[in-house]
Amino acid sequence: MGSKKNGGKGGDGHNGCDHGHNHEIAKDDAQAEPKGLTRNETLVWDALMEAGAGLKAYEILDRLKEKGVRAPMTVYRALEGLEEKGLIHKLAGINAFYPCEHDGPHDVQVFLVCETCATAKEVELESIIAELRPLMRQSSFQMKTARLEARGVCSNCQPAAA
Ligand SMILES: [Zn+2]
Ligand SMILES: [Zn+2]
Repeated sequence: MGSKKNGGKGGDGHNGCDHGHNHEIAKDDAQAEPKGLTRNETLVWDALMEAGAGLKAYEILDRLKEKGVRAPMTVYRALEGLEEKGLIHKLAGINAFYPCEHDGPHDVQVFLVCETCATAKEVELESIIAELRPLMRQSSFQMKTARLEARGVCSNCQPAAA
């Protein structure tokens, strides 16, 4: 409990500042730790943030072993919790978990999945959302999620074009 210190002492990295306010560091640096996570969810979230990329469940488990997490179920449950909170997405195609790059839970998810380096990039595609909603209404279907995984070769993995 309460093992995490807030902020730190400040004073590192800037000088000539004596007006006693808090320097907020990297405030908009994307993913601050979300609120309301369980301990295990926080561990899993931190592991994903540290990796800065998608991780497979066993890779997360590997990373958490030194923190005392040994049961795969613990990791799966935490992943489920994070997914329910809309904080991560599971990419079935490459069986990896990715932190959501958007604000808040969203049901329509579009990913560009590179088959060469097995990375995925989350993108937004308004037109899909716009087309899906009326379709769901017409079909009286209660959609939970719709995920499009476009598979192919990312720009890093493409041979340089002539
Ligand atoms: Zn997302
Ligand atoms: Zn690639």
